[in-house]
Amino acid sequence: MSSLPISSSQPTPLDVLGQVFGYSDFRGPQRAIVEHVVQGGDALVLMPTGGGKSLCYQIPAIVRQNAGHGVTVVISPLIALMHDQVGALLEAGVSAAFLNSTQTYEESSALEKQLLRNELTLLYAAPERINTPRMKGLLASLHARGLLSLFAIDEAHCVSQWGHDFRPEYRSLSLLHETFPDVPRMALTATADHLTRQDMVERLKLEEARAFVSSFDRPNIRYTIVEKLEPTRQLLRFIQTEHDAEAGIVYCQSRKRVEEIAGMLEDAGIKAMAYHAGLDAKLRQQRQDRFLREDGMVMVATIAFGMGIDKPDVRFVAHLDMPKNIEGYYQETGRAGRDGLPADAWMVYGLQDVVNQRRMIDTSEVASEEFKAVMRGKLDALLTLAEGTRCRRVSLLGYFGEDSQPCGNCDNCLNPPAVWDATEAARKMLSCIYRVHQTSGISFGAGHIMDILRGKPTEKVVQYGHDQLSTFGIGADLPEAQWRGVLRQLIASNLVRVNAEAFNTLQLMPDARQVLKGEVNVLLRQQAVSAKAERPRRGSKASAKKTSAKGMAEATLNAGALERLARLKAWRAEVAREHNLPAFVIFHDATLRAIAERAPHSLRDLEGISGMGVKKLQAYGAEVLRVCAQEG
Ligand code: ADP
Ligand code: ZN
Repeated sequence: MSSLPISSSQPTPLDVLGQVFGYSDFRGPQRAIVEHVVQGGDALVLMPTGGGKSLCYQIPAIVRQNAGHGVTVVISPLIALMHDQVGALLEAGVSAAFLNSTQTYEESSALEKQLLRNELTLLYAAPERINTPRMKGLLASLHARGLLSLFAIDEAHCVSQWGHDFRPEYRSLSLLHETFPDVPRMALTATADHLTRQDMVERLKLEEARAFVSSFDRPNIRYTIVEKLEPTRQLLRFIQTEHDAEAGIVYCQSRKRVEEIAGMLEDAGIKAMAYHAGLDAKLRQQRQDRFLREDGMVMVATIAFGMGIDKPDVRFVAHLDMPKNIEGYYQETGRAGRDGLPADAWMVYGLQDVVNQRRMIDTSEVASEEFKAVMRGKLDALLTLAEGTRCRRVSLLGYFGEDSQPCGNCDNCLNPPAVWDATEAARKMLSCIYRVHQTSGISFGAGHIMDILRGKPTEKVVQYGHDQLSTFGIGADLPEAQWRGVLRQLIASNLVRVNAEAFNTLQLMPDARQVLKGEVNVLLRQQAVSAKAERPRRGSKASAKKTSAKGMAEATLNAGALERLARLKAWRAEVAREHNLPAFVIFHDATLRAIAERAPHSLRDLEGISGMGVKKLQAYGAEVLRVCAQEG
């Protein structure tokens, strides 16, 4: 048996929650999930990022191992993070380990012996390890002794090609239910669209498993999507005015762009690093560690970064390029504000994003037509979100099948966008595309169409005789930027298609007829006229609410408490460095704040503080008291 920091010999899930993790209540469906799995039931857990999935398998693992059922094997794709995950468990007094290709034969053997003596509660392994002969042999011996308690498959959507993180290694996990059908299994993910979910259930054979679907709402995250005008300046202003010296992630599509933006931020005096798959593994690991360990770092990255990063105090996630679909967007933005404090999800997007994403789908040589059709549908849903005028959260949650009310904490709720009747403009543009095709027999791209509309007699326009068309100059009344907006929204509404196989030329889609015939009206969101106008926030009601939410936590602390907090943070940084772990693994900010506020004089004063489990109290209590007692 392990030496858990627990008083009772047969602890209940609630005992474990309180004594090991230092939390007083389960969150949302955690209790139901934990109870079901403790009893040996299979489970499918769909919970948003930051919802608290880890405890859903860690607590059953502890309770079951304590009852003699052996080890819980956690399948996680994140080799680079296993060290910190295991470190966090060890800090809480839970015996955990991970299997890793860098371990020596002796280390692996020692681990195996521990397992066979039922001394290990959680074993983390990457999916590709499961299929190795040695691992299969180990699992079989554990199983024969009744010491295989539970399989927890984290990031389970990786098994589905419909998900946004398909990992072929996950397919080999069918081995688990085929070889050990009697061992309970749970699959956890923050991705829940219908197709992925169905596929996941089939692939992992979870038809009989109980499904626990949480609300996907993350109320503390504020969603904002703005038009891309001067993206780098927009980003810089966003960070400087709203997230000075705070941790954040900036997503870009290409490696080159990642490097550029990281350089630009650094030049502007912001602590920033680049991360993408083109960097060597060691450098990536170093930067990831710095992001986790240092305060106020900004990581500029491709989507190669972020899965499993459980840093609680990421204050913003910015997208400089549009993701491929809502699942990806939601998972990436979900990395902000895991600690429940206010956070921002901020995206700029423009016509070129729409064109690029469509082209990537259309020109893919590996994807089947069926796959492309699904991807187009997903992209359309994201465009509808970006162009829409209703509450972003209502749209997002609606996508995951959840009904909700306008949230009051997204750009559309806080500053309802003006809508203009673009029926006339849309008809002009559509008929221009139509006429050009009719007279020339070929299609043209956006720039050329715009020139004709605005009555610009460019060389190309004259060469094709397009200055003679009835549509030449009929759009001179609107500025070009507005026409771009019209076109983008026509593409987003599937009235116009950009044909990637024919030089990005514009083609009318069947539904365009109704607009041309005047049967339907087109209402579009009013575009921002300049980059400055897009976010009238500082001093507005919206930002006042937000600043106060952030400031409040600090404001409630008096001067003495603030000093204690500063000393506690410095002490925590030292401990974290010694243990080679991120600071939040030692104590969360919220825990340090609560300690500082309480001004403790005895160990008893520290009991019951959220995040202060029994082991941490034993290990750090005296030190914490000493730090608190120091004179400033
Ligand atoms: P997920 O894996 O679902 O993204 P995590 O398991 O990393 O989320 O949990 C997110 C954060 O919430 C963590 O910092 C965790 O310590 C905290 N947390 C989880 N459950 C509870 C709870 N019942 N009470 C307080 N904090 C919790
Ligand atoms: Zn809203």
